[in-house]
Amino acid sequence: MTDDIMPAEDKFREACGLFGVVGTPSAAEWCYLGLYALQHRGQESAGIVVSDGESIVEHRGMGLVYDVFDEESLGSLAGHMAIGHNRYSTMGLSRTVNIQPFSMHSWRGLVCLAHNGNLVNASRIRRRLESEGSIFQTGTDSEVIVHLLARSRTSCFEDALGEALGELEGAYSLLLMTRDRLYAVRDPWGFRPLCMGRAGSAIVVASESCALDVVGASFERELDPGELVVVSEEDGVVSMPLLPAQQRAQCIFELIYFARPDSVVFGKPVSRFRRELGRALAAEQKVDADVVISVPDSSNEIALGYAQGSGLPMEFGLIRNHYVGRTFIYPIQSMRAVRARIKYNAVGEVLGGRRVVVVDDSIVRGTTMRRLVSLIRNGGAREVHLRVGSPPICNPCWFGIDTPSSEELIASGKSPEEIASFLGVDSLGYLSREALLDIGGRENGFCSACFGGAYPMEMEGQRDKAVLEPSPRSRGGRRPQ
Ligand code: SF4
Repeated sequence: MTDDIMPAEDKFREACGLFGVVGTPSAAEWCYLGLYALQHRGQESAGIVVSDGESIVEHRGMGLVYDVFDEESLGSLAGHMAIGHNRYSTMGLSRTVNIQPFSMHSWRGLVCLAHNGNLVNASRIRRRLESEGSIFQTGTDSEVIVHLLARSRTSCFEDALGEALGELEGAYSLLLMTRDRLYAVRDPWGFRPLCMGRAGSAIVVASESCALDVVGASFERELDPGELVVVSEEDGVVSMPLLPAQQRAQCIFELIYFARPDSVVFGKPVSRFRRELGRALAAEQKVDADVVISVPDSSNEIALGYAQGSGLPMEFGLIRNHYVGRTFIYPIQSMRAVRARIKYNAVGEVLGGRRVVVVDDSIVRGTTMRRLVSLIRNGGAREVHLRVGSPPICNPCWFGIDTPSSEELIASGKSPEEIASFLGVDSLGYLSREALLDIGGRENGFCSACFGGAYPMEMEGQRDKAVLEPSPRSRGGRRPQ
């Protein structure tokens, strides 16, 4: 699945997976397995820090989990407690100094931090701290958290954490580790997921429940927005509200696309949620056709739901080469384009002479879908009808997903007819925002700002998603400013 979630390079990019464990002598190995299961959340770098109660050891590197760790490096990470991180950079460059978990020394001792999300006011906080003498070592937004923590004069770690996090706005699911404790926190809006489970006497915390499964831990619950869970061998699990909960803004895109279908996220089995999207899409966007195909693998469940709802057969009309890396993770546009060309092939036997409904989960820039439509037509399809399991994406995300700017989002400046014409499809239909929120359950509090534009917090003057260090790389377009 690690190479399976994103169908194309013009998709959103996810930003980081977290895994932590307390209470097993194989903490590093568990972390390794957990990060492997969460590889889809970030492929640029990975790191694990481990404590034996006295000292902390660490190993980090650029690349996939299996690139970074081997028997020797895992063997050097002895301890019963660990946190790990998979990174995709939404802020800060893809370079070694930005690999998480960070380990920072201060008067509090060594504190390690792993962060999933994006802080919308990090640049302002950083400028303030720098003007007061702080020296930053990385280009990430996450580093402000450890600086704020170190500057607090409160001796109680939990109070200092509350003080530090109280200054932040934006998305953060965090794992922190000291010599003898693991701290797990979810921001007061609940943007990014974070769940916990048990395996015997060991406590496991992870971005998604699929990472609990891989180490044989049973799912216990998700952390509440604003909740802090402290885990130690000494005191077990202690939970407390750290920050007053805000209006919930759980990222609905986690359910549509980011999370693995075998995870439970925001209280919902992801696979079932996607099939419901497909059934609703079939009800809203009927089309007279012969066959339904998915864009493997991320839209498989939505396409299955569409087939169930429409009564049309589902077949596999596109085959994905799983040995091509996830093209979008390569920050250089030219590399991404080359890889995308060898990623899919059409099955003529399925498509030949038929009216095809191709179902995708979302359309971002539209460039890959345009190539796929051409591929499907070359495969012999008589008609190509595109059905999308989410509403048009018209706005960038500021909360931990690396979206292109509004100008690059195909739905931002074009009518559905213009989009259909650009993509070369016979018809185009999106799921409505109303249906999406109905399926999510409005009472559950979702962020859907990339569709509707209603950001869950005041964004004026906050849009400092700009990198905290100069970028030498071409991103094929400017970042949202
Ligand atoms: S703007 Fe979209 S991608 Fe970003 S947090 Fe909200 S729903 Fe998720």
